[in-house]
Amino acid sequence: MKQRQIPFFNYRALFEAQEQELTAAVVDVMHRGAYILQQDLADFEQQLREFLGVKYAFGVADGTNALIISLQAAGIGRGDEVIVPSHTYVASAASIHLVGATPVLVECRDDHMIDPAGVRAAIGTRTRAIMPVQLNGRTADMDAIMEIASEHGLQVIEDAAQALGSRFRGRFAGTFGAAGTFSFYPAKLLGCFGDGGGVVTNDDTMGERLALLRDHGRDSRGEVVAWGTNSRLDNLQAAILNVKFRTFKADLERRRALAARYDEGLRDIPELLLPPAPDANPDHHDVYQNYEIEAERRDELKAFLEDRGVRTIIQFGGKAIHQYEGLGLTHYHLPRTELLYRRALLLPMNTSLSEDDVSYVVECIRHFYGRS
Ligand SMILES: *Cc1c(COP(=O)(O)O)cnc(C)c1O
Repeated sequence: MKQRQIPFFNYRALFEAQEQELTAAVVDVMHRGAYILQQDLADFEQQLREFLGVKYAFGVADGTNALIISLQAAGIGRGDEVIVPSHTYVASAASIHLVGATPVLVECRDDHMIDPAGVRAAIGTRTRAIMPVQLNGRTADMDAIMEIASEHGLQVIEDAAQALGSRFRGRFAGTFGAAGTFSFYPAKLLGCFGDGGGVVTNDDTMGERLALLRDHGRDSRGEVVAWGTNSRLDNLQAAILNVKFRTFKADLERRRALAARYDEGLRDIPELLLPPAPDANPDHHDVYQNYEIEAERRDELKAFLEDRGVRTIIQFGGKAIHQYEGLGLTHYHLPRTELLYRRALLLPMNTSLSEDDVSYVVECIRHFYGRS
């Protein structure tokens, strides 16, 4: 087979696919001199509200800030514990630490989502909230999580940074708990050209607090009525996201089609654990931010693919939260998560890939495991 070059992500192709519209939107903002809390941001927030069917949506600095102000708005701070999976980006746990609370780490299941049994076992007298992480474009079993939360009087703050458009039983990731957060980092499902984030809620008190927190505690008259910070999505980034939103539903469908192709090509290989296929379970509508497999002889497979022009990565630098020496959480023993980090690999998954690209990756992997 002919060698191809398949980058993990192709920023340039993504820009060039919409170059004229994107350039026009940016130039228009600059002609208007409309940079902070302007119409493009208001339009974007409206689009996000309509897309998710929620009452409040705020564009904020980034996905990490979205988590921090959500926890603050929920009143979580010193002395509190928040349950979070160890298989996540450092920002999930860091946001808990940065509001003065303690992250309590739990396991994931075979679909890489938070394990409800682990959550139940981790609840103690100081537990105040659960932070499910809707990883890889999938939504956790939120029936189980919400049931545990209501039994124990816990708040739920959803880290849906990787899951805009993902659903569980018809309901969107980010809309189950007190607040849900999103990231618009360039390689995320809906990506801007820098840092960006969003936070959504259906709760009036939460909505009011978030509006104050992201803009120096100022109300609609500009009066400072509470302590707040500066966490506003740039109007320029909002204008870019408004353009990206035009093709967003089609982009998600494209990812699902590519995932189906990976699944068809790889599902008979016993050395692999694949993500659930797009139509595997009617409760889940996954949008494949990532295609995260587990593979035997993972490092060899990664090198083999690299030699054939296919770039893969190991998510989060190859470590779970409890495996970073610098964070002081190495006393945790989470065997399922540790197994995952010995075997996990992200195959290329983005809207710049062609069907033939995916077929090529599939062929290379089949070749590696001695199957044709
Ligand atoms: C990307 C990401 C974040 C943080 O988002 P930023 O916009 O980069 O701050 C948080 N949690 C998860 C799971 C993420 O993937």
